[in-house]
Amino acid sequence: MAQFNSIDDMDLDGKVVLTRVDVNVPVENGRVTDATRIEKIVPTVKDIQAAGGIPVLLAHFDRPKGKRVEGMSLKQIVPALEEALGQPVVFAEDCIGGPAKRAVAALEKGQVALMENTRFHEGEETNDATFAASMAALGSVYINDAFSAAHRAHASTEGLARLLPAGAGRLMEAELKALDAALGDPQRPVMAVVGGAKVSTKLELLTNLIEKVDHLVIGGGMANTFLVAQGVEVGKSLAERDMADTARAIIEKAEAGGCKIHLPVDIVVAREFKAGAASETLPVGECPADAMILDAGPETVEALRQAMTACRTLIWNGPLGAFEIEPFDAATNAAAACAAEMTEQGSLISVAGGGDTVAALNKAGAAEKFTFISTAGGAFLEWMEGKELPGVAALEASKH
Ligand code: AMP
Repeated sequence: MAQFNSIDDMDLDGKVVLTRVDVNVPVENGRVTDATRIEKIVPTVKDIQAAGGIPVLLAHFDRPKGKRVEGMSLKQIVPALEEALGQPVVFAEDCIGGPAKRAVAALEKGQVALMENTRFHEGEETNDATFAASMAALGSVYINDAFSAAHRAHASTEGLARLLPAGAGRLMEAELKALDAALGDPQRPVMAVVGGAKVSTKLELLTNLIEKVDHLVIGGGMANTFLVAQGVEVGKSLAERDMADTARAIIEKAEAGGCKIHLPVDIVVAREFKAGAASETLPVGECPADAMILDAGPETVEALRQAMTACRTLIWNGPLGAFEIEPFDAATNAAAACAAEMTEQGSLISVAGGGDTVAALNKAGAAEKFTFISTAGGAFLEWMEGKELPGVAALEASKH
């Protein structure tokens, strides 16, 4: 388990606490359309305040590439932030220099401030030492609550943690604990479900998982590539035929290491990729030459359910079929329902993440029953790939 300070381990009383958060929310016409990420930082802000600290929030928004772009100002999220926190938020027009210093100097206990987009400065993404030092000068403690930005070694995610006593916010803490329970030191057997479109984008993830889990369920478009690798015909399905050797190497390595690979045994095929398209369920290997595999069939789901029942831990990324279009969401929904039920019964620790996965599990109505759903996207995937996340590594360094 990563060793890091939490809010409880740090002396925050009377201190300005530079708090890195992820409030990179969708905005349309200057209004926040989904405040989920903003709501998730509330416990951290409140707990810092309860410990007597004054949270000064640092965050990026969109990709202004080192320049001030008015449409990418964090000012537009202030109303949603005020609503989530239930208090006014002081906004500073810059995250360093005069505007930042003046705003911070005027703050009192109980208040909270948001600094303008860190990415308005080139030094953010280059992790420039001078830029990081200018931000560090504003406060005396650093809390990182942005796990979703921890895969980037930027000034506000990594540089600052090297300059001030640093710790993890509540969301960061929850993410790291959940991820550790899933892959770091999990209860066994562990099952990984990996679906989605392509093998090529998830190669490192698959390679890392076969060394760590006992069962690997491969679904979605990427299963087609594995079927092709085994000489199974997949008609017009999405498949990366040039990845067949890679898929075979993954299967061999998994078998040698005691990781059981589960591939579809039956398939749902259609001739068109659209809602309500006529579809049929066939044994794997019987995909007509003019059809596409768009979902796994009920026998595959039943085999998955049986294997899952014997497992204690589940880690899931990627849908088992083209879940956006009915009826090709059936396997994803059924597998999600099974995991949700086992989790509710207390027999499974279930952790899932990745953009499409969160959408698929929400659509299945199962997300809330999972032990933990990571909304971290890229950072979650890099962590599943076994990579060190610079933002987390810097917190660990601060602990020692
Ligand atoms: P990813 O972003 O790699 O997790 O891929 C998610 C996408 O894979 C979703 O948009 C799904 O519709 C798509 N997908 C899953 N299974 C299939 C399939 N059998 N054929 C085509 N697309 C699929």
